[in-house]
Amino acid sequence: MSILKVARMGHPVLRARAKSVDPAEIASPRIQTLIDSMFETMQEYQGVGLAAPQVHESVRLFVAGFPPRRGEAAKEADDEERVPLMVLINPEIKVVGNATADDWEGCLSIPDVRGRVTRPVEIDVRAYDRRGRRIDIHAKGFTARVIQHETDHLNGVLFLDRMKSLETLTFLEEYSRYWNSRDVPEE
Ligand code: ZN
Repeated sequence: MSILKVARMGHPVLRARAKSVDPAEIASPRIQTLIDSMFETMQEYQGVGLAAPQVHESVRLFVAGFPPRRGEAAKEADDEERVPLMVLINPEIKVVGNATADDWEGCLSIPDVRGRVTRPVEIDVRAYDRRGRRIDIHAKGFTARVIQHETDHLNGVLFLDRMKSLETLTFLEEYSRYWNSRDVPEE
């Protein structure tokens, strides 16, 4: 396990379409170590999600989730903001319903920048978990947003591409000063 270098915007790996993981390879040390290191990297940088292309591995998998932080776990019982720890491999998203929401996003590959992105509120996701089992997830709210942001990374798409207007593109310092005192984690 190790903390990996995060690719920043401009690196071609962030614009490539990542390759599917052969389900037979999921149990391999290469993929298992990659997953462990991605969790470690995400936690080191206090992200809420991290896709493999962001650590220079062009394969279709990502990790996500907010580990409960000490002392904060009890008071932060806001389910809307909670993202369970997950590893999704070869994820396929199906949008449920027509509802969309506009909210702030940040990205570990575009550090210290925030912007508002409109995304579907509710999704169904089909994927493999880290043991190579087929899983079906239903997600909404912030969790659905994170899954969509990470899946976009597997297709070479960054959140900036999803912004309807760049007017809300904001440096972190100005974000906390003029827009919102509560930070949105990068992903
Ligand atoms: Zn990102």
